[in-house]
Amino acid sequence: MDYKNFIGGAWVETSATTPNVNPSDISDILGHAARGDLTQLDQAIDAADQAAAIWAASTPQQRFDVLDFVGTEILARKEELGRLLSREEGKTLPEGIGEAARAGQIFKFFAGEALRQTGDKLASVRPGIEVDVTRSPVGVVGLITPWNFPIAIPAWKIAPAICYGNAVVLKPAELVPGCAHALVEILSRSGLPEGVVNLVMGRGSELGPRLIENDKVRAISFTGSVPTGRGIAAACGAGLKKVQLEMGGKNPMVVLDDADLDIAVDACLNGAFFSTGQRCTASSRLVVTEAIHDRFVAALAERMSALKVGNALEAGIQMGPVVDARQLEQNLSYVDIASGEGGRVQGGERLNRETEGFYMAPALVTETSNAMRINREEVFGPVASVIRVKDYDEALNIANDTEFGLSSGICTTSLKHASHFKANAQAGMVMVNLPTAGVDYHVPFGGTKGSSFGSREQGRYAAEFYTSVKTAYTLP
Ligand code: NAD
Repeated sequence: MDYKNFIGGAWVETSATTPNVNPSDISDILGHAARGDLTQLDQAIDAADQAAAIWAASTPQQRFDVLDFVGTEILARKEELGRLLSREEGKTLPEGIGEAARAGQIFKFFAGEALRQTGDKLASVRPGIEVDVTRSPVGVVGLITPWNFPIAIPAWKIAPAICYGNAVVLKPAELVPGCAHALVEILSRSGLPEGVVNLVMGRGSELGPRLIENDKVRAISFTGSVPTGRGIAAACGAGLKKVQLEMGGKNPMVVLDDADLDIAVDACLNGAFFSTGQRCTASSRLVVTEAIHDRFVAALAERMSALKVGNALEAGIQMGPVVDARQLEQNLSYVDIASGEGGRVQGGERLNRETEGFYMAPALVTETSNAMRINREEVFGPVASVIRVKDYDEALNIANDTEFGLSSGICTTSLKHASHFKANAQAGMVMVNLPTAGVDYHVPFGGTKGSSFGSREQGRYAAEFYTSVKTAYTLP
């Protein structure tokens, strides 16, 4: 077995395994991953529970050393880890290396944060009494991650968990065991006490509910789809557990008549199609005002058709394959739905390449309305639609008319419209003259409405989820 589970400081085999298939070339099996069962999961939770008290008592220096070690090694090995990532998930090699580097930077950021943990000391309203407000670790945290950022998302959950003194059980997505395994392998040599980080690979539908139900798990951080997230929120509510959910998007990019056309086309090309559109922050609804509409569509369609689609590991490829057969079917069916609803589709056909993989051409759907399914439901593939609007006011209304609220963008040279949009876009992240996707690692990440639930991930705001606040009163 190539990727074993990691429980209480030991690598553990399972009788069943899952093959790790390269979506650019399905004859290339990267390895076989453990498919853990409920017994292994319980063992991992027990190990984390025992380690949690030990790690909670660790010093800022110990935490810094572990996080810095991991960040340094990931950055030193970013090319190798990026290649592994591209081979198992299908994003292009530069994107894979970029994501690996980001994971390293996240560990470096939280290494610094480990040294900067503060509290408040206040005067009491009663004479002679002192009040301290401090943050304590939550305890055992369950981490459930998706396939589309196979190293960065586990990193942005594990790093703050360790930084603030918690122990974790990571349940990564079934499609990407290699990156999770590689990350935990580095953590296993970082000086962490046994049991602080545990890895249990296996089926989400089987392991997920147990991870949430177990009383020793005090908090769940989840990134994935809305239906799975809703179920997790309900189960955590019933168990009175802390929960943080990052889910889907149907992110609008508004393009106004006064936009710089090149900037707008660049931003939309990147936001909609890079990483094969498999980003929760992908620009999937392009809301374009009348006077620039035709020029914008012509320029974007030309750039889109010129994108080189192919094997993620080949030099010069700009868009890799879709992650698996099921996602490819879903993308193609949304292209059909859009055309059945009256949209005009360019691209969007299945492609054949030298190796057998899940390739499709990026798709642009024009002449759509915001009521169509293509504009209401997340596709999670390289499919963007264009909605023609009269003016800025209509654009803002359409941008906000969605159940999601992750990222929202505008391309304009008008300071007035940019400022108004930043204040009134119903989204957790707002981009001006930039793609809706592509964020920094040191600031909060997350959305509003149906995209997110609970406190923010990343940056200093991560402390809110990975700690609980304690208020202490002393009469000296
Ligand atoms: P998914 O919901 O199918 O799976 C996510 C994780 O949940 C996997 O590890 C899976 O095994 C596990 N899981 C499955 N059933 C479960 C259950 N019943 N209980 C607990 N866990 C369970 O999502 P996916 O297909 O892996 O990822 C794609 C989705 O993730 C998209 O909707 C995308 O928008 C979203 N996403 C969101 C963000 C964000 O930060 N907002 C980032 C990346 C991806």
